[in-house]
Amino acid sequence: MQAISVLGSTGSIGVSTLDVVGRHPERYRVYALTAHSRVDELAAQCVRFHPQVAVVGTAEAAGVLQQKLRAQGLRTEVAYGPQALCDVASAAACDMVMAAIVGAAGLASTLAAARAGKKILLANKEALVMSGQLLIDAVAEHKATLLPIDSEHNAIFQCLPHDFRRSLDDGGIAKILLTASGGPFLKRAVDTLDSVTPDEAVAHPKWVMGRKISVDSATMMNKGLEVIEAHWLFGAPADRIEVMIHPQSVIHSMVSYIDGSVLAQLGNPDMRTPIANAMAYPERIASGVAQLDLTQIGQLFFERPDLARFPCLKLAYDALHAGGSSAAILNAANEVAVEAFLNQEIGFRMIDQVIARVMDKLPHGTVTDIDALIEQDKIARSVAQSCLTL
Ligand code: NAD
Ligand code: MG
Repeated sequence: MQAISVLGSTGSIGVSTLDVVGRHPERYRVYALTAHSRVDELAAQCVRFHPQVAVVGTAEAAGVLQQKLRAQGLRTEVAYGPQALCDVASAAACDMVMAAIVGAAGLASTLAAARAGKKILLANKEALVMSGQLLIDAVAEHKATLLPIDSEHNAIFQCLPHDFRRSLDDGGIAKILLTASGGPFLKRAVDTLDSVTPDEAVAHPKWVMGRKISVDSATMMNKGLEVIEAHWLFGAPADRIEVMIHPQSVIHSMVSYIDGSVLAQLGNPDMRTPIANAMAYPERIASGVAQLDLTQIGQLFFERPDLARFPCLKLAYDALHAGGSSAAILNAANEVAVEAFLNQEIGFRMIDQVIARVMDKLPHGTVTDIDALIEQDKIARSVAQSCLTL
């Protein structure tokens, strides 16, 4: 029996994770659940999964949750704030951590899980994009395990040799082929993009996800972040990670080998597949996802991404080439710009412009420790705020 902490349990990934957990009560029990503000949903999850600890964002939310849980006769301990997230991610009673908080807010708890040597199921790509080598080093130093949940990276993980050790050459690998759906605006006239609404941008054609990652998919910054994520997870240089648009989202990514073989992982677009794969690795368990019927799909389509339509993808490659704190700056600027777009403060095409301006303005430095990184993130956010009105 393994105990899991689900960080961000009320989000899209959190809910899918609990769906898989609920299918295997003999294998998994819940140690902790965390949510930022959705107390009612968290309380309902506590009633179903009986965690030892539940964490929320504020003292006020904790008070409300406490009352709800006591009314149900539950003895779940209630905590709040960033330190409580780190505590449940590193607790001795927890074996495995689902890192599914969105954005930089998930960095500290993901690092805490790494330093405590946990099995980390990494959905929170922003944490790895920001911290890069620091997180990879912490995982190695504390003998933690980092398993990718992002569907593309989980697909690549499944297509790699079993003894893969973060070296493409040792594994006989030519390239990583990262597939992308292209999002809701793949075919929309570019000159109409500035008038798209937040609701149009989050209406992803293939995946149901949280609002931030849905906007990232519409700009293709999501794919850019995933290129950087693939670089760190698999030790792949930028020029050996190729993005390919595959609107059907049936192939979740591929690995191309030097002998001419290409291995792909296919499945219906449902995050419970990569979640179940990582939770049970190296075993396989049922996830609730329907079997893929290729005869229903008939044909698979691919095209190259158009960087004029998706400038965010190029910005992410630029950040990866530049190294140091560039990816953290890119990520911070993107988080600020996406939030401003969702709040209808800026238009859709301003997102890439804000990020480009912040990257131009801020010289990137080396990142030697987490405090320096958090400082860079803070500065980039304030520069991004000042760029919103230009
Ligand atoms: P979501 O918005 O649906 O959920 C986010 C979760 O994080 C919620 O539980 C929320 O309470 C919590 N949260 C938000 N801000 C917080 C804060 N400041 N402090 C603590 N907790 C906070 O997001 P999601 O779609 O589930 O995505 C979660 C992560 O997984 C993201 O990093 C995303 O890029 C990644 N991811 C998601 C999908 C997907 O299909 N949804 C696929 C691949 C990767
Ligand atoms: Mg993905």
